[in-house]
Amino acid sequence: MSATIKSEVDFINAIKTEPKNKEVIEGIGDDTAIIKISSNKYLLFTTDMFVENDHFSLAYSKPEDIGKKVIEANVSDIAAMGGIPKYAVISISLKQNISFDFVKRLYKGVYYSCNKYNVDLVGGDTVHGNEIVINVAMLGYAKTDEICKRKDAKVGDLIMCSGYLGTSTCGLELYRNNIDGFESIKKFHRAPHANLDKSRKVCKYVNAMEDVSDGLASEVRNICLESKKGAIIYWEKIPIREDVRKAAKILGKEPEDFALYGGEDFELVFTVSKKNYEKVKKFGYVVGEVIKGNKIYLSKENKLIEIKKFGYDHFARTKV
Ligand code: ADP
Ligand code: MG
Repeated sequence: MSATIKSEVDFINAIKTEPKNKEVIEGIGDDTAIIKISSNKYLLFTTDMFVENDHFSLAYSKPEDIGKKVIEANVSDIAAMGGIPKYAVISISLKQNISFDFVKRLYKGVYYSCNKYNVDLVGGDTVHGNEIVINVAMLGYAKTDEICKRKDAKVGDLIMCSGYLGTSTCGLELYRNNIDGFESIKKFHRAPHANLDKSRKVCKYVNAMEDVSDGLASEVRNICLESKKGAIIYWEKIPIREDVRKAAKILGKEPEDFALYGGEDFELVFTVSKKNYEKVKKFGYVVGEVIKGNKIYLSKENKLIEIKKFGYDHFARTKV
């Protein structure tokens, strides 16, 4: 019997091939594919899929929130490359008894986020299925001198994140545990947003960049795998909102675990040389450094602990 798929990284490595067309600068492996279309311009191409009760729940989220989220997640991947989103197509699988009102409200959210980023929805596909599945594919552009690949981290770079982490996972835990209040955290979970504005500010100066969809530990691991480097994450410096700290206490959890191993904050994680740090320091927080080797460590209470589990994985289904 053939072995089962144990992790998303193993799966992606197993299917990865070298592109045949020379204009494909990056195929599988980064936040988006990179295709060279002129001497100073790249086309970016990405897709993200959302499955009911896995990526969203109708018990917590309004249809408008889901519509926003599917666009924001794709814009976030284009922002993570230093690009500008332009065109989207959306394919949906709808349950037999779904109401017209649901679909209208879903698309209200889709158009809200498309308008925010000047993205045109230019097509899609509709089928019936047993659960709601929504897939968005998006195209965007990047200037060749603004592209930020995962594989460009250098030893000695500082690792920074563009904002507070762990908020979305905290919101999910509040819902799961039926805890009242903390509306602002719950809202952040229901309707997260991409950070295109921050990407525009830093993309000229940073080396590697990625968006936080699966937690800080996982994103730093992705950058390190592609760059063939190691990293230290400074546990004490992970930026966490005060209300998230309070909520985590009630939940009996460490808020840093939400940040490291949760996901969908859609903040940007980037590495920057010490020389360029001055140019970007007001756009984020230093949370670590790039080192030689291939291991990722957590620096906590003056000890270095190697991280071996990296967060949410769709195959392993481990939330650590
Ligand atoms: P992100 O979290 O930024 O959306 P993923 O971790 O989902 O990125 O994917 C990592 C890389 O693997 C991307 O380049 C993506 O296009 C590619 N990838 C993911 N799933 C598949 C698949 N089923 N077939 C081909 N490529 C895939
Ligand atoms: Mg991404």
